[in-house]
Amino acid sequence: MHPFAVQAQANQAHLRIIETTDLHVAVFAYDYYADAPNDTMGLARTASLIEGIRAEAGNSMLLDNGDIIQGNPMGDYIAYEKGLDGNIHPIIAAMNTLGYEAATLGNHEFNYGLEFLDKALAGATFPFVSANLVRGDLAADALSDETYLQPYRIVEKELTDGAGATKTIRVGLIGFLPPQIMTWDATHLTGKVNTRDIVETAQAYVPKMKEEGADIIIALSHSGIAADQTTGAENASLQLAAVEGIDVVLTGHQHLVFPGPDYEGIEGADITTGTLAGKPAVMPGFWGSHMGLIDLLLEQDADGKWTIASHTSEARPIFERVEGKVNALVEDEADIITEVTDEHEETLDYIRRAVGETAAPLHSYFALVADDPSVQIVSQAQTWYIAQMMKGTEWESLPILSAAAPFKSGGRGGPDYYTDVPVGPVAIKNVADLYLYPNTIQAVVITGADVKNWLERSAGIFNQIEAGAKDADLINLDFPSYNFDVIDGVTYKIDLTQPSKYSSDGKEEPNPDANRIVDLSYDGKPIDPAQKFVVATNNYRAGGGGTFPNINSDVIVFKGPDTNRDLIVRFIIENGTINPKADSNWSLAPIADTTVLFATGPKAAEHVADVTAVKIEATGETNADGFGLYRITL
Ligand code: MN
Ligand code: MG
Repeated sequence: MHPFAVQAQANQAHLRIIETTDLHVAVFAYDYYADAPNDTMGLARTASLIEGIRAEAGNSMLLDNGDIIQGNPMGDYIAYEKGLDGNIHPIIAAMNTLGYEAATLGNHEFNYGLEFLDKALAGATFPFVSANLVRGDLAADALSDETYLQPYRIVEKELTDGAGATKTIRVGLIGFLPPQIMTWDATHLTGKVNTRDIVETAQAYVPKMKEEGADIIIALSHSGIAADQTTGAENASLQLAAVEGIDVVLTGHQHLVFPGPDYEGIEGADITTGTLAGKPAVMPGFWGSHMGLIDLLLEQDADGKWTIASHTSEARPIFERVEGKVNALVEDEADIITEVTDEHEETLDYIRRAVGETAAPLHSYFALVADDPSVQIVSQAQTWYIAQMMKGTEWESLPILSAAAPFKSGGRGGPDYYTDVPVGPVAIKNVADLYLYPNTIQAVVITGADVKNWLERSAGIFNQIEAGAKDADLINLDFPSYNFDVIDGVTYKIDLTQPSKYSSDGKEEPNPDANRIVDLSYDGKPIDPAQKFVVATNNYRAGGGGTFPNINSDVIVFKGPDTNRDLIVRFIIENGTINPKADSNWSLAPIADTTVLFATGPKAAEHVADVTAVKIEATGETNADGFGLYRITL
């Protein structure tokens, strides 16, 4: 039992608020991209905590914080193939079995359009609230807005107090989502809905809810936690908590855990007691990884007025990591598995079946020595997506470049650690192979000079080669391949006789005058160092990952909510046949009478003829780690 359940006296009651957030269609503990079971996710797992969690509490309420219907291949399968005519969305069906009292919308609810969303919500046996999503134009003030859904509800909740008497408390539930949906889903939303600032909306509605008799108010905030926010902020839960009359804040959207070290150093966020601006708050991870618990010891005075006498907050996980290994802490809830088994089977079929065709082999065996289709397709999808996002912005007229690196290219992963998808059908599970990490799409605006330095930093993956050298070692094995960004949209050569301008970790600049990047051109002309470019990349690089010169949060102009992997899937589905044939926009510069050795997977032998930008041949030798050795004549 929670201590409050034991402690409660007459006129005191324990109320446990239980939160799920960012479920993203994760019903089963299964990673559909990898086509393998995965113990870190799944509402079927989280749900099995519920019975115990409810049993520990005097009284409880289950709520969901949004990002429900999109985010894994099951969601794509329902939206793109099966549809929702005559069937209930599987995540909603699973949630219907659990007794939610209410939920709110997340930003991803709009990814498939409003009509699809309406159909999905129609299948829910629990209500949705959202106060800052407005039908049509914004009115003069929040209270005059015609909200898309009901903005809030006041639920009469029966509580058993410490003496066993039944009491009634009126719990106000109000929902919020990031206003940025208007940019992220402009194609689906422009002219149909609008959004209002989260804090402004709360300030308008909370007094009204109080007037209507809400004893306590719980904010379902599909928004993260951040310091120093301005109007229209995406992550406004801390500022929302400070609004007078809000008692509890359920947070989400950032896919992190609160209370906990994820939020160290943010003024007003207490990562030990789990409060934001002094109010109890929680963020239970994502994909069902945690269940969020806020426990309230409520007290009713002689006038019938309820106050919160004490509170605790906890994010309870469904798994633990021990020495890097994931251990499941709970088992599947059978009811949910039964409810969604058909859709799980259909999704397995969907991820294993072709969703498009590739006209070029997608392999990464030679991604470090020549322009390569496995990197090319990532850039094609990134450029396609960022071009849509730049429309109507001040950067609309700038050229769009794209940076992408080979992820699976041997190295410490071993000689079989390569992407390898033959010409022909592409299945969704292949996309995981193309884009290994759950990075999200971002864009920066930088100059031509910065583009060159970005490439100089990337070119540090090569050892310096002396002209006339024979069978010199090409690759610096201390340099991870995920930092070897290829930039698409410009053309260039890499001169290996020059030393690397930057150290392997990017932190030092031992050769400030070195120029490995030569013949760097945009639109057929030498690049103008002052020209501005939009560069599509991921959150890791744009946030300063890999220490690339001048690439950091100061130059970010766009942060997308989508994973790069999801947009590759969308790119393939929307285009049908893709042709990621490398455009040879970069190559190693010729060096007279010079050869180097390059180690790659043994299966590379079948693809050596695909590489035309450099002369490459198998030596027939294999190194101690099982890699085949290839000779490149520069
Ligand atoms: Mn989310
Ligand atoms: Mg290219």
